[in-house]
Amino acid sequence: MRTSLIVAAGGSGSRFQKTSPLPGGQYSSKLFFPLCGKPLLAHTVEAFQKISQVSETILAVPEGAQSEARRLVRERGWQAVRLVRGGRTRAESVWKALRKANPRNKWVTVHDGARPFTSPTLLKKLFQGAENSDGVILAKKIVPTIKEADGKGFIRRTVDRRVLFEAQTPQVVRRELLEEAYRKVPKAFEATDEASLLEAVGAEVRIFIHEDWNPKITTYHDLELAEAYLHQKNKVITTTGIGRDTHRLVDGRPLILGGVEIPFEKGPLGHSDGDVLLHAVIDAILGAAGEGDIGEWFSDKDPKNKGIAGKFMLQTVLKKIVPMGWKIQHLDSTIFLERPKLSPYKEKLRRSIAELLSIPQGYVSVKAKTMEGLGPEGQGLAVTAEALVTLQRIVS
Ligand code: MG
Repeated sequence: MRTSLIVAAGGSGSRFQKTSPLPGGQYSSKLFFPLCGKPLLAHTVEAFQKISQVSETILAVPEGAQSEARRLVRERGWQAVRLVRGGRTRAESVWKALRKANPRNKWVTVHDGARPFTSPTLLKKLFQGAENSDGVILAKKIVPTIKEADGKGFIRRTVDRRVLFEAQTPQVVRRELLEEAYRKVPKAFEATDEASLLEAVGAEVRIFIHEDWNPKITTYHDLELAEAYLHQKNKVITTTGIGRDTHRLVDGRPLILGGVEIPFEKGPLGHSDGDVLLHAVIDAILGAAGEGDIGEWFSDKDPKNKGIAGKFMLQTVLKKIVPMGWKIQHLDSTIFLERPKLSPYKEKLRRSIAELLSIPQGYVSVKAKTMEGLGPEGQGLAVTAEALVTLQRIVS
């Protein structure tokens, strides 16, 4: 068989955004959010990339996520992928993608962009199951006892669960029949899956029972569970790293800590912006990941690094570390500074760092200390910061 793959990823992901504890949105959609270092959508798409039956992939993504999706396709080297704009409903997104699918393919496979746990082995079995039918969908037995109740809340019936199944994706259907259903079925754009459209035109669709966990990631909590699941199935290592940085304080330079400018008459002297806190954080991350130190990454001999912002340095490091599978679990830090008093700014610094690291604010700690007049920090000559970072990664 030859099939086009349609990835339905047109939704806004508003439930995910609402449940996410992360300050600010670094990603235009939940689909780009890292799941064990790899964007959620990459988990989903890459299982299909390895299969010869799938000749092309059409991604239906919202307008606002188009450029990020295009970048992901390029960065991960996916083959034969096209993008379409998602519709107002899932079924409309699938329809828009269907019109772009290669008409020579007799089959269309539709899969939710936010279901990351299929595998090439599973997909091959599913495709075999489609032969001699009009379609096949992944389905799960309903295990709990199911009650039917009336509008007043009284139970009227216990439903025979032996004939009940939860419809999941992928759903593999004959292309002609799906097109026919879109033309004939009233309110086709409101259908919640492809099988229901085929059922409405009298087609014979099979279920393929699959008992492994195949969640659709909807809330931030789902993503955390998915990560825990991957951690449980694989070997995970936890590492820690420390970082420390000191800069001399001089007149007329801005005082930037954790990417936040603090009003003060003095600021750190340095080749960069002198953000000691982010420099310490960067060194701690590099230490935990075993990736050298900040001086190797951003040489002060390189004119390109003159005045470079700590924020930008941190983003550069994360762009390399996160795709290696590293996840920042926790960060603790201390700033040593005599003046100004940092207590009014500590929460702001915490929020700024949490945002930069894409982790909940509760996993970031920023402490501040004066040195009771002792040493260069105590005498107001220097600012110092220390950081301790915990990273985790799946070892494959
Ligand atoms: Mg420094």
